[in-house]
Amino acid sequence: MMLRRSAASAGRAAGLRRRAAPPAVRCAASATGAEPRAPRLDERKVLHAEIASMSKEEKRAPRPENVEGSFFVDKTCIDCQTCRWMAPDTFSAVGLQAAVTKQPETREQRVAAMQALLSCPVYAIHTTQRDPQELKEAQAGLPRPWHTEAPGVYHCGWHSEASFGGAGWLIVRPGRGNVLVDSPRFSPALVKQVEALGGVDYVFLTHKDDVADHAKWAAHFGAKRIIHEHEATAEQGTDASEVKLAGEGPWPFPDGDEDLTIVYTPGHSDYHCVLFSARHKALFSGDHLCGVEADAAHWKLDSRLFIFEDFNWFSVPEQLESVRKLLDYDWLHVLPGHGPPVRVKDAAERLKAVGDLVARHGTPVAAAPRIRPTR
Ligand code: SF4
Repeated sequence: MMLRRSAASAGRAAGLRRRAAPPAVRCAASATGAEPRAPRLDERKVLHAEIASMSKEEKRAPRPENVEGSFFVDKTCIDCQTCRWMAPDTFSAVGLQAAVTKQPETREQRVAAMQALLSCPVYAIHTTQRDPQELKEAQAGLPRPWHTEAPGVYHCGWHSEASFGGAGWLIVRPGRGNVLVDSPRFSPALVKQVEALGGVDYVFLTHKDDVADHAKWAAHFGAKRIIHEHEATAEQGTDASEVKLAGEGPWPFPDGDEDLTIVYTPGHSDYHCVLFSARHKALFSGDHLCGVEADAAHWKLDSRLFIFEDFNWFSVPEQLESVRKLLDYDWLHVLPGHGPPVRVKDAAERLKAVGDLVARHGTPVAAAPRIRPTR
């Protein structure tokens, strides 16, 4: 099945390209007073080389940065950020990796820390006091409801190393069939919980990086995968996706659900797309857009936006233009593949958040390249 954009949407896209540049506003100081933490490619390469050179025993040793207690992070942490926004009372960034900077005290904090342990893509989180009841509760709580403002949206947890710890999201649509956005690990415990929530009818893949176990999810549930035709590859098996998007959208959802729109957001990769849910006022943003964290600060859900400039495989200016294009949609929640989620309280805060992001990067959008690699 191939979806193409309509003439109306083509005209709309052309109009978007003529949009004036946003007002030059300066980046607001962060809520914590700390600067946004910007993971760097060169530092990550050094970190990964260090991990690769360690002995097995050394790899599984606790980082000295952990505070004393039952939970700890070992030296194989790849800094995917997951634990820090899943269990922010317990984990923070210290140096280039995560650490337990406060041991969980309440049952709620212990279960959240256990869910982070289950979701760590490289099994770098451990506890010396594993309570079977808490483990059961942690497993039963994934997928985890995202926010009271967006009932029916769940964070799956169980991140996969194959997508560098990318998040998967589940949209539950009673009577219509559920949508999985990007791919969590195909863990039997997660599959069982997803079955209880009604299974999966569609797997929407934002782009080529975060496809992980897409084939297993699609095969188990008989789900249709959706991906842009130029993000599909033979080596990842996404060329077998049942729905391929062509052109530049926006595209209606294949089953006609008017609440869902697929939006073309090139920049991180050349044919990246995001999914907008009008009902939930949520953007499922893949690697296009996410939130901010700071070193050694416990993360809190807020309105600050972030793009991984150092992990960009196509064009940062084009990515920023794609972010501005999203101002055409009424979203309050940004639910990313990588990095923490975002919540803005209204349209004014959304406009300010986008303006701050663009001003912080200081890149003239008009300079965006228009030449894509030949395929
Ligand atoms: S989830 Fe695991 S790999 Fe990711 S930041 Fe936490 S400890 Fe590191």
